[in-house]
Amino acid sequence: MNVLVMGAGQLARMMALAGAPLNLKVTAYDVNSAKVQHPVTGEIYPLTLEQAVAAADVVSSEFEHIPYPVQAVCEASGKFRPNSTAIKAGGDRRQEKALLDQAGVANAAYRVVQTESEFYAALEQLGLPLVLKSALAGYDGKGQWRLKQQADAAAVWADIAAFMAGAEHSLPQAIVAEQFVRFDREVSLVGARNAQGETVVYPLTENHHVNGVLAVSQALPSNEALQAQAKQMFDAVANQLSYVGVLALEFFQVGDQLLVNEIAPRVHNSGHWTQQGADTCQFENHLRAVCGLPLGSTALVRPTVMVNILGEDYVDPAVLSLPSCHLHWYGKGKRPGRKMGHINLCGDTPAQLAERFLALSTLLPEAGFPEVADVAKTLASKV
Ligand code: AMP
Repeated sequence: MNVLVMGAGQLARMMALAGAPLNLKVTAYDVNSAKVQHPVTGEIYPLTLEQAVAAADVVSSEFEHIPYPVQAVCEASGKFRPNSTAIKAGGDRRQEKALLDQAGVANAAYRVVQTESEFYAALEQLGLPLVLKSALAGYDGKGQWRLKQQADAAAVWADIAAFMAGAEHSLPQAIVAEQFVRFDREVSLVGARNAQGETVVYPLTENHHVNGVLAVSQALPSNEALQAQAKQMFDAVANQLSYVGVLALEFFQVGDQLLVNEIAPRVHNSGHWTQQGADTCQFENHLRAVCGLPLGSTALVRPTVMVNILGEDYVDPAVLSLPSCHLHWYGKGKRPGRKMGHINLCGDTPAQLAERFLALSTLLPEAGFPEVADVAKTLASKV
């Protein structure tokens, strides 16, 4: 089968690598250059979007910021999985919040803000501190403001107003003002739903962000009650969207309660550990779901941690001498903070993984891997 993926980044690349053994051929459409290309070799195919869609058996996506006219072409083909309602919900925080409310899943209290008076009304109704997020084109903490004290309100609004005036979007921009959540930790759930409505989910993953960007993900030892709560929310959102493919839910955990922070209608960075740590990786399961193949087991094979390589194009090759350590480069040009690759590290037991993680962290310079050593030490202190 031929699968055309909207977006030509590392997620399409890893889908192509996972699809090859199943004879699933993945091509990618780069929405920025409007070129159809091979997601691993970069070879360009002389096809328009319409021709590529016509030639594909299935059309899917690796990111949520796909221009609406491109989504319309995909949707009109009847081959788009997940559907554009799901993609749009992932790309617009207003739609995302409305979806979470419709699905009846807990999330931080919010107001949609477009004007100064709406901004002050939100401040009044939600209280401080507030997290303000651009509705469109926000990801990895970009387009976000924190308002901690009333005295800063005018300055923050001036900043937001300038941002909205300068925003280059064909759609009207807005801000979602959200109550600040004092969470204990951030976790995520990655899972897949097929066209028959069956769902499978991976174990919850604990995530550590640095400056709003994911740095480390760790598949958690099973906590049945929390896993069941997350699965119920996953099913509610996936069913609400008639979703087909891999979907990720990011949560704040407050005590025993999960609040959905955001959804990603695609394979997700916090699911990269599944390449070495799960029976079937998220990329294969996404392809299985969208191609109408049986879903694969999501069982944890062994404790695994994933470390992102941010803004670096070199890692000491000695990391490969650590047992069960796997390096995944994305073949991208170096830019500060850019997701360049990741490392998956496994152990037979949580204690062995913690020990290996400490060893790995000594090979990763603090500049390129901020806080990784701290996370490794915390993990070691818990087992
Ligand atoms: P987001 O782009 O929504 O994932 O936000 C990036 C990061 O900002 C999250 O991973 C959290 O660490 C933090 N954050 C976002 N929203 C909130 C909130 N309402 N309360 C507290 N922290 C937040």
